[in-house]
Amino acid sequence: MKLHEYVSKRLFAKYGVPIPKGDIATTADEAKNIAADLGGKVVGKSQVLVGGRGKAGGIKVVDSPEQAYDAAKEILNLEIKGIPVDLVLIDEASSIQTEIYLGITNDRAARKPVMMASAAGGVDIEEVAAKTPEKIIKAHIDPVLGLMAHDILELALGIELKSELWIEFKNIAKGLWKAFKNYDATLAEINPLVITGDGHLLALDGKMLIDDSALFRHADLLEMQKSTEAHQTEVDAKEYGLTYIKLDGDIGCMVNGAGLAMATMDIIKHFGGEPANFLDIGGGADEKMVAAALKIIISDPNVKTILINIFGGITRCDLVAKGILAALEEVKTDLPIIIRLVGTNAEEGRELIAKADMITAKTLAEAAEKSVTAAKETASREAS
Ligand code: GDP
Ligand code: MN
Repeated sequence: MKLHEYVSKRLFAKYGVPIPKGDIATTADEAKNIAADLGGKVVGKSQVLVGGRGKAGGIKVVDSPEQAYDAAKEILNLEIKGIPVDLVLIDEASSIQTEIYLGITNDRAARKPVMMASAAGGVDIEEVAAKTPEKIIKAHIDPVLGLMAHDILELALGIELKSELWIEFKNIAKGLWKAFKNYDATLAEINPLVITGDGHLLALDGKMLIDDSALFRHADLLEMQKSTEAHQTEVDAKEYGLTYIKLDGDIGCMVNGAGLAMATMDIIKHFGGEPANFLDIGGGADEKMVAAALKIIISDPNVKTILINIFGGITRCDLVAKGILAALEEVKTDLPIIIRLVGTNAEEGRELIAKADMITAKTLAEAAEKSVTAAKETASREAS
């Protein structure tokens, strides 16, 4: 699970990493009040779980609470890569001398976490890695021994950090490692870690990815993030025991079994379509889970058609059909639905579905082909 910037930074701060003062707002009025409390000079930052927010106008530095109001209003009206912004972080603005990169991820080949630092911070680190890999200094971390003082010193020397800042840097590196380790992260990153105008280190941005398999150990995280995130379908899915991953296409998929879900996505591509998501409702999906899955698919504004592909084994096709009908009562949709039911109780399932307005398919290929056609038709209807 990807954490919001403000959640990541608050976790870092818990372990002693200095972050700017600030708070999150859901309205322009709230943003104005926060800015007033912070003394007026603030930066408004859209909190969305996709990259590229700067280019999309999602970060604005302003000088007064009134300007903060206007900036927040604009930011809250944005849609970044199809995701509406409904949360803006208002941070005290900082003056910046230098931008540094500091991050930890797992090095699979070395079978160890690795801390990376670079004096070329602020910019996309993947780009630095591709063009000037020598600008990234690495220190592997022994998971048992933890982050060692000499490793931190090596990183500080590698990025030519002046010695006055070594103690601050050491505390930040240690804090970042603790956050990474204690929260079962697969990535913990500060980009940029800045040297401020008055010569101190400050974490301006924060990003964390948490291992989904460890989320059950971090109920606090789900709470922190959920209370403010209306569009976080991946979290919602998790609550119902569904595995959902949003993708960029327009054909929403509901499938049981990860392998079948992947095969379904492949065959959609084969017929020239693009899946909008990966969604595995699992082996023993009940009516409630199916309804939740359908709602999640429909909540994606990019979806132009829905493909339901169920191979009834433990999952019974009649229960799936009932779930779909129940969900359609609740969430009305005009989107075409292509459905393929085979296996346990398929006959009963098809009878239930027959009354509803859906396109049935016998084979996976037929279902995929019909979905691609239906998606194109919906798109051209919407365009005209
Ligand atoms: P990202 O582009 O989504 O990673 O967002 P960041 O939080 O990293 O901000 C992008 C850039 O905006 C930073 O590298 C800084 O150059 C600039 N920035 C962010 N916060 C401030 C601030 O408080 N003051 C100033 N002057 N610039 C900032
Ligand atoms: Mn950044």
